Amino acid sequence: MRVLLHVCCAGCTIAPHEALTGEGHEVVAFFYNPNIHPFIELRRRMKAQRVLQERVPLRVIYEEEYGLRRFLEQVDWRGEGRCGDCYALRLGRTARLAAEGGFDAFTTTLLGSPQQDHDLVRRVGERCGAGGGVEFLYRNWRPLAAEGHERAGTMRLYRQNYCGCVFSEWERFRDTTRHVYRGPGPLQE
Ligand code: SF4
Repeated sequence: MRVLLHVCCAGCTIAPHEALTGEGHEVVAFFYNPNIHPFIELRRRMKAQRVLQERVPLRVIYEEEYGLRRFLEQVDWRGEGRCGDCYALRLGRTARLAAEGGFDAFTTTLLGSPQQDHDLVRRVGERCGAGGGVEFLYRNWRPLAAEGHERAGTMRLYRQNYCGCVFSEWERFRDTTRHVYRGPGPLQE
């Protein structure tokens, strides 16, 4: 099958890409992540994806536009449904591109991330697939994630320390001063 693989970051791309090609699929990756803020972080993650391409034969379609406005318009950032909306934003676009491009199916590296709500990713993916008339290819790549990230480390790929949106950045760092000030003494938690 020709499969369009939505990729959230370089580290998460390694294992799903390898698994799909191992199954005999022709894979094209799609980097579309309007959830990544601020802009410099989006550039870092895109750069890491390009560095991965220098090491692994991988075709990638990039959406380079900074998607903060789109994210705030389409994601319920005031309420509880933030992540489901965020998945729908990314997977809906991927499903449409897959249908337009004549792909047999689409899927996402979010299915490999232990940090994401796996069942919700699956449900949203299937809904987007049904809406777009293209199959959502479900796989559980979580067991492969640790090895994939270890290999990303050996390739010295940039690895982010928060999910993507400004809200997740705040949740990650609100209880620490570690990344705020590096004085002459030991680092502070
Ligand atoms: S925490 Fe992650 S999945 Fe949830 S809305 Fe933010 S970027 Fe999207």
